[in-house]
Amino acid sequence: MSTPSLLILAGDGIGPEVMAEVRKVIDWFGANRGMAFDVSEDLVGGSAYDKHGTPLTDETMAKAQAVDAVLLGAVGGPKYDKLDFSVKPERGLLRLRKEMDLFANLRPAQCFDALADFSSLKKDVVAGLDIMIIRELTSGVYFGEPRGIFKEGNERVGINTQRYTESEIARVARAAFELARKRDNKVCSMEKANVMESGILWRDVVQEVHDAEYPDVELSHMYADAGAMQLTRWPKQFDVIVTDNLFGDLLSDLAAMLTGSLGMLPSASLGAPMANGRPKALYEPVHGSAPDITGQGKANPCACILSFAMALRYSFDQGDEATRLEKAVEKVLADGIRTADLMQSGEGEPATTTEMGDAVIAALDASL
Ligand code: NAD
Repeated sequence: MSTPSLLILAGDGIGPEVMAEVRKVIDWFGANRGMAFDVSEDLVGGSAYDKHGTPLTDETMAKAQAVDAVLLGAVGGPKYDKLDFSVKPERGLLRLRKEMDLFANLRPAQCFDALADFSSLKKDVVAGLDIMIIRELTSGVYFGEPRGIFKEGNERVGINTQRYTESEIARVARAAFELARKRDNKVCSMEKANVMESGILWRDVVQEVHDAEYPDVELSHMYADAGAMQLTRWPKQFDVIVTDNLFGDLLSDLAAMLTGSLGMLPSASLGAPMANGRPKALYEPVHGSAPDITGQGKANPCACILSFAMALRYSFDQGDEATRLEKAVEKVLADGIRTADLMQSGEGEPATTTEMGDAVIAALDASL
């Protein structure tokens, strides 16, 4: 197979700062694990707007379509807040997701033992937590037509439409079952079949796909509101949760926050397999461009580094190497090396972004 290709879109704010640490990690795997990547870089978001007047050029879009995986930092910032909606930095990211047809958004909620105290929940509820939320990303109420604000008699009415086809539900259900087979083999599907027809169809199709193709996976169904309660009551009961775009937006944020800091949360957005069998894929930290700490060496690079671990696992089938990288991050935290977002006040000097990246490299060296 040819050298796997990566397109790095560092973006705005702390994006380039955290991505610089990921570059070190990529180079480490090339030098020490025989895993060379063909890496190219380009602009997205505000930085692309500044240079080209658009948050994503057609050329960059074409490159993203051609590579094996895209790694994105973050986009946005106050400088761009007043821009027209059509050229806002976020439009660059939305265009990538839409044109690459990234329909499955994977958001792990994993609690490193060393950080269990950072959760707002009791330590025994979150310690050792490892769940995965799969959110449908390209359909549902954020895209359905009709939508808009219309005049009805003397008042305005706001309309959005929840719409799902069977094939849209089936493909994200398959993504969930496939993933569960590589984990604890359990899927919980969440919707509101008690009050929404689209929820009834969702439940039916997930069950049909299960019965026909994945009978070995344990499947349960839950109403999304009950799911939110269960996620805060005893999240360890779950393995993989699959849900629609709207409920997934809420539930994945909720689950992620069980584990502490935004600076630790990676994500993957996957689409259909390409000709070489790898899925279309974009990996990015959950956090934004953090303008309040940009340029100060305070950003935690772990979310972006862990996003690269997801790339190793889901794009390049290197699960063992992904685990090596995750364990290196875990070791750094256990050794007490932390950026400011992972410290309580009075706990001493925080590590800088670069120091945190270097510590991960040292932990990788120690893993050999
Ligand atoms: P944010 O995630 O950028 O920041 C929220 C808070 O978390 C800030 O206090 C920030 O300092 C802190 N934080 C975030 N990442 C951190 C890290 N790696 N290390 C340490 N602390 C970290 O969210 P926001 O402030 O609401 O948005 C800022 C900008 O980012 C906006 O323009 C927004 O539109 C954009 N945004 C982009 C994305 C994306 O690119 N995917 C996601 C969310 C927000």
